[in-house]
Amino acid sequence: MASTGVPLEARAQARADMARARSRTSFDIVPVRHWLHGDAEAWENHAQLVRIVSHEAVVNLPGRPFMSREERYANGQAIINRFNELRIQNQWSDEQLERALLVTGQILPSSLHATAFQPVILRQGSDEQIRLWGPAISARAIIGCYAQTELGHGTDVAALETTATFDPKTDEFVLHSPTLTSTKWWIGGLGRTATHAVVQAQLHLQGKALGPHLFFVQLRSLEDHSTLPGRTIGDIGPKALGAHQAVDHGFLRFDSVRIPRFNMLSKFAKVTREGQYVQPPHAKLVYGGMLYIRAQMNHHAVWLLGKAITISIRYCTIRRQGKVGADGLAPQVISYPSTYYRLLPILANAYVFNAIAHHLHAEYEAMSALLARGDASLLPEVHIALAAMKVLVSTDALAGLDIARRAMGGHGFSEFAGGGRLLADHTPAVTYEGDNYVLDKQVVRAAVKGHQMGVQLPAESLSVFAFLGQLAAPMSAPVSARDLAQTLRYRAANVVKNFAQLKDSTQDPGAEARVSRAVGDAYVAGIAANALEQGLPGGEPVHRLFLLHLLTTVESALADLPNVDSRALRAHIGAACADILPDAIGLTDAFGFTDWELDSALGVYDGAVYDALWERASKSGFNAASPHEKEYKAHIMAILERGRKEVARL
Ligand SMILES: Cc1cc2nc3c(=O)[nH]c(=O)nc-3n(C[C@H](O)[C@H](O)[C@H](O)COP(=O)(O)OP(=O)(O)OC[C@H]3O[C@@H](n4cnc5c(N)ncnc54)[C@H](O)[C@@H]3O)c2cc1C
Repeated sequence: MASTGVPLEARAQARADMARARSRTSFDIVPVRHWLHGDAEAWENHAQLVRIVSHEAVVNLPGRPFMSREERYANGQAIINRFNELRIQNQWSDEQLERALLVTGQILPSSLHATAFQPVILRQGSDEQIRLWGPAISARAIIGCYAQTELGHGTDVAALETTATFDPKTDEFVLHSPTLTSTKWWIGGLGRTATHAVVQAQLHLQGKALGPHLFFVQLRSLEDHSTLPGRTIGDIGPKALGAHQAVDHGFLRFDSVRIPRFNMLSKFAKVTREGQYVQPPHAKLVYGGMLYIRAQMNHHAVWLLGKAITISIRYCTIRRQGKVGADGLAPQVISYPSTYYRLLPILANAYVFNAIAHHLHAEYEAMSALLARGDASLLPEVHIALAAMKVLVSTDALAGLDIARRAMGGHGFSEFAGGGRLLADHTPAVTYEGDNYVLDKQVVRAAVKGHQMGVQLPAESLSVFAFLGQLAAPMSAPVSARDLAQTLRYRAANVVKNFAQLKDSTQDPGAEARVSRAVGDAYVAGIAANALEQGLPGGEPVHRLFLLHLLTTVESALADLPNVDSRALRAHIGAACADILPDAIGLTDAFGFTDWELDSALGVYDGAVYDALWERASKSGFNAASPHEKEYKAHIMAILERGRKEVARL
């Protein structure tokens, strides 16, 4: 490689800074790593997948920024094709295949096959339907997408226009798109890939509209992939911020397409041969598939945040800027209070959200087990907890990804840093699977209802409604986890009580988002405080992270907590940050990301950031001689000559 021109001392210093920071780790990272991944076995499985997948030539992570959209799509398909070979070679389960695709860190053309199409069928299909379609779905003998959103209707699912009308003469449903606005739109993996879809359509029986239901529909031929008659399918075009490039989000129209009655997903609601409607036992069951996806989203957000904060803390550890000190060196950027105050709470969020993701996963599984027995008693609690956490985790992850990127200064804006890519890919997560502002309304409605019913749960409850009735004024200087959590429960109870007294939302247009945030914060705080009391792996450093999360959450709520001593609180935050700082590298190493997974010049494990940046820039196709010459002859030469002539005329 050519000389970089960066003085050797700075490059050696970067490595030395990283090694020194790592050597200050005061805890055993192995149990923490196991906790982050779920357990030791989950970590081993993950590491094994990374070892296999990272040697696959088709997964060209550093090459991504130089690919066109067509190339990204084609590469995405090549990855899926190769990984399905690996699935057979390595006897991977569906879940292992999904995890293998996830470790590539990219959103692939048929990601929705495993994250929406398959789970919705498994959870909403009858036993007979699963028996018939399940093996083909698992083996990727068919590729599916999830078609709910329409050009004119997203949030308001009840207003979807696509119709599924039962024809008793032929025992079929007729799917139809009656208007332009009824065109299915934004459907991941549909534009050029999917052979099948689960379609949300308004069920019409004997002239009556019975609301949206799910239908299994073939779209393309399994012989030659051509579009089947009556379907109009295409790609909706590139996405904002250059994100989700490999995915063919598509549109779909039906012109009186007939499907057998059997194809309505009928675990819960059914239509009989005579055209009679059999009601689901619980109205919300129809949206059960969405709950699964929301439960998964929390895990994804943790790993995105984990990557972003690992990159940012590593870079800020080796980056030195500012006045040279007695040691002859400029300070490390991470040593500035205004830097670590920005970054450590993001690290804390990644850890605390991991606890939330695991807690909610267990709640979701418990709810599903009960639902399978026809018992919907846990559904309202899990539904609201997942809605509140979808909002809180995706919102804070988005904010954290940008803060982590900005903390890296100009280099953070380079594609080679990796932070911008994580941010762009996560950006729509606050919109899909329920727009966050709309979910706020559901959380607030449930909280106000609980308040009006006088619900009061025991103090040790971890329910999303545990804050209700907790109106005893908090202490002015909460420090312990229990007191901080109690402060946040008080704040939630108080803002819900005040909101319930509002005549209408025009009196306080921002109230719903604030109330939902207060409910979400109280829920997270209850689980975080409980985890601290139960004990966490890693001892003090991890405990301090959880405490930092609680302290900064109370800080963000000060407007609702006038009697809390803000100066004392901020002093505790400063002390917690200072205590955590020596372990910052260890706490990020605990995630266990390899350099291949991070795909970031700024986040390299050994701190050799300048070498990594230089190498990536040197390899950039943009620096090849011939294209530049072409542009020079075509345009640059003319611009310069014109300019010279103008100057000569002066
Ligand atoms: C990257 C990406 C992938 C997607 N993949 C899929 C997919 O595979 N399948 C699929 O079916 N869909 C998919 N979607 C669509 C997604 O589910 C919708 O974008 C989402 O449901 C929001 O609907 P909308 O876009 O129509 O927004 P709208 O519902 O039109 O919302 C627009 C604005 O209005 C506000 N708003 C709406 N209703 C209310 C209300 N009642 N009260 C107050 N404010 C309100 C919202 O907060 C938002 O700010 C995807 C979207 C994206 C961006």
